[in-house]
Amino acid sequence: MKLGAIIRKEMMQLFFVVLSFGLMVFVSYIFVSRIVENLILTNATETLYTAEATIRSDLREAEMALYNAAITVEEMLIRGESLQQIESYLFMLSSAMFEKEDSLPGFLYYFAYLHNQLIMGIHYDVPEDFYPPERTWYAAAEAKEGNIAITSPYVDAVTEMPVITLAKNLYGPDGEGYGVIALDLDIAHISNYINSIHAYYQTYYPGTRSRTEDAYGVLFDEQFNLVVHPFDDSLNVPVSTMSPGHARTVQDLIASPDGISIQRVTNVNGERIMLITKRIFNGWYLGLARPIGSYYENIRFMAIILSILGIVFMTILSIILIRLSILKADSEEKSREKSSFLARMSHEIRTPMNSILGMAELIQRKVKSEEIQEYAGIIQQSGDSLIAIINDILDFSKIESGRLFIQSRDYGITSVVNDIINMMRPRIAEKSLDFFVSVDCAIPSMIHGDDMRLRQVLTNLLSNAVKYTHKGYVSLDIGMEPIDKRSFKLICSVKDSGIGIRPEDHKRLFSEFSRVDLEANQNIEGTGLGLVISRALCRFMGGDILVSSEHGKGSTFRAVITQVFVDDTAAAMVKEPEKKRVLFYDERPLYVKALKDVLSNLKVDFKSSSGFREFITDMQSGQFDYAFVSSKFAMDCISLLGTGNKPLQLVIMVEPGEVSVYREVISIMMPIYSITMANVLNNVSDELLSHGKKFSVSFTAPSAMALIVDDISTNLRVAKELMSPYGMVIHVCTSGSEAISLLKSNRYDIVFMDHMMPGMDGIEATTHIRNIESKDGFYRKKLPIVALTANAISGQREMFLQQGINDFLAKPIDIQKLNEILERWIPKEKRIKADPGLIEDTKEANAVSLDISGVDVSVGLRNCGSSVEVYCSILADFCKDAETRLVEIAAALDKNDAPNYTILVHALKGAARSVGAMETGEKAFWLENASQ
Ligand code: ADP
Repeated sequence: MKLGAIIRKEMMQLFFVVLSFGLMVFVSYIFVSRIVENLILTNATETLYTAEATIRSDLREAEMALYNAAITVEEMLIRGESLQQIESYLFMLSSAMFEKEDSLPGFLYYFAYLHNQLIMGIHYDVPEDFYPPERTWYAAAEAKEGNIAITSPYVDAVTEMPVITLAKNLYGPDGEGYGVIALDLDIAHISNYINSIHAYYQTYYPGTRSRTEDAYGVLFDEQFNLVVHPFDDSLNVPVSTMSPGHARTVQDLIASPDGISIQRVTNVNGERIMLITKRIFNGWYLGLARPIGSYYENIRFMAIILSILGIVFMTILSIILIRLSILKADSEEKSREKSSFLARMSHEIRTPMNSILGMAELIQRKVKSEEIQEYAGIIQQSGDSLIAIINDILDFSKIESGRLFIQSRDYGITSVVNDIINMMRPRIAEKSLDFFVSVDCAIPSMIHGDDMRLRQVLTNLLSNAVKYTHKGYVSLDIGMEPIDKRSFKLICSVKDSGIGIRPEDHKRLFSEFSRVDLEANQNIEGTGLGLVISRALCRFMGGDILVSSEHGKGSTFRAVITQVFVDDTAAAMVKEPEKKRVLFYDERPLYVKALKDVLSNLKVDFKSSSGFREFITDMQSGQFDYAFVSSKFAMDCISLLGTGNKPLQLVIMVEPGEVSVYREVISIMMPIYSITMANVLNNVSDELLSHGKKFSVSFTAPSAMALIVDDISTNLRVAKELMSPYGMVIHVCTSGSEAISLLKSNRYDIVFMDHMMPGMDGIEATTHIRNIESKDGFYRKKLPIVALTANAISGQREMFLQQGINDFLAKPIDIQKLNEILERWIPKEKRIKADPGLIEDTKEANAVSLDISGVDVSVGLRNCGSSVEVYCSILADFCKDAETRLVEIAAALDKNDAPNYTILVHALKGAARSVGAMETGEKAFWLENASQ
């Protein structure tokens, strides 16, 4: 498949991959950015705490310096020293502190206001209007009553620098006020420290291409006036006036109990910043501003990394997905090829098998010699097994390629069980095994499900039971368990007293192609596919198969499937059971038990005689309405009929494989189970009589008309012969167009239509037939058309049904299936119930030797059956047909019309092989292969 087509096919999946990765990147981005944001905030707060600690320690030092000076000045005043002496002291102290390098950072000078006189520790011509009690420092000291006060920054009149003043009241021994002592600190020191905060970032995120140098610190006092700010013109400006954002910061700080606020605001430069602010020890506020761009830089970086990783993973996953799709498409292609190979192979095998089995059937019907009949029987048996193997392989390939479909419809459990028993009886009789069947009376008579698949599973399990049991018994037990009002579990247990399975082999039972215990099974044929297919079928039908087995003692396979109720009529029910007393006798305890179970299940009163003498006495006692006895005692019992006190219905239980010879009494074929027993007790027993091994048609329909369409004369002949016992008027033709014209002038009851035909194939012909315009067009719309095909491959049936075909008959034609189809489609009013008995035909094939160049006469005769005359006429037809066909083949080649060419050579191949023209057949085979 082309890459583009794969991508289009997987578009939805790829979309989901992209979507999920996008979502993953988005969610990770949200989570990780939260983490990074928290980390950044934690770091910022840490920085603020460190800054606060540094500022606090600087101011503490200043407080200590003021405190020491205050003590000395207080002592000097107490000692009565003059103000000049104090001034000299402050002057000297100020000069010493100012000059000493490691003294108090930012220290400017001391000064005092004592006894209403200003004393300066620095040279300064005090202006006349300078009145200390009006200064902020004086008021602050007064307010603190002896404790140290710190003012907000202001521009110092002496140094004209932004300063803060630390001031303290001085008191005499009796508490009389001397005045105030103070010192000025250059605010630049704190400013420098705050302004250098960005350096911290630089060290914290080394290596990042960071704009952290744009980070800056700010400080504002208790009144929210800016004390430190990198843009000097902002100093002493109230923070709240800077921008609405700042106003919010102030409100936040007032409201916040821990004094921390985080805001995105615009600064004086019009730049968006993240401002984290904290209230510090003296009631001032320290802030850290960082441009939002730099703040999100790390998060953005992380988002880019995540997106790149997401895209890389997404691409890898998409490539893997596409590669897997390509592999899947390849393997689907291969599986399709395998399926179509199997279909072709099956067609190739089925076409000659059609002839082989059809002819074998005809031989059995027409030839009287027992020996030849036996040989034909063997051919038929081997052919049947070959077809069964082909069917298994086909089913297995369907299961493998996921093309096995369950076809549910309404069906009767009775017909399923009867058919299975009829099929198994001869095999069981051959091995002289006992066969028991038990069907729960409560199972509804009509069920909705796939009866064909149920038959397949049961046949498989029963065939295995018979194959792997050399003596003893095989039993089939069908029960049910309701699931709800609509559906129930159908439980089918197949039990045998065979070779059993070793515990270590249980696991391998359901592995394809695996056969276990090869030593014990070496003479038993098998492919090892039956159980795999059966289990897959049960699983498709909502169930499973369970095994329990004991090596050397036997096995039980329990198949469970889910089916749907159609009605609630019980499958087996005896009318007026109280009026039907049953007596029976059998020497074999297991059969006695089985009969007891059946009768109890049907709620019928019964007696099991313990010996034949007792049985005879009981028969004559007049207490019973029915007496069942095994065929061994039939003659003795028949002779006693009419000697009892009351008329009684004698029923002979015929062994599997035995032919009933007792025309005067009812015979019932063993194994007896609820449905057959109920039928006998309800007097519908005549249908149950056995008439031996051969097939008998269930009706004849002399007034019915059938049309068979097949381009191969041999197939036409075989199909016609197989349908002859039904006595219908049969027309045949070899192409779709002929069929259409025949349908315009005849009113058929059924049409058998070959699928692959040159020119117009069966489906096309059907479409044309359905569309023929006429007054009674409705008839052609309803006309049953049955596809005839050797292509029994997956989906064929469904395909036919979709194309307007009503039913499907696989080649080689199985006469039971043919009978079922005719019963289903031939109108009831045209059917006449057939006389029971064999369909006899006195004609015998003539054994003549002919020599025709290029033709294997023996093959031709065998394939065409019947007489030499008929064969010769078929051969002549073939030659005539081949002449026109060769012209058509040449024309198709000229036109480059490959499909028609293939069909034409395919038909020629089949026809040639059928008449024994093997060389022509071989050449046609190569041409067909080449054209494909
Ligand atoms: P096969 O075609 O070989 O019978 P199956 O799939 O039907 O294939 O069975 C697989 C294997 O399981 C058989 O080869 C046989 O060894 C074992 N087996 C199946 N049914 C029975 C049974 N009723 N008794 C003993 N062995 C059985």
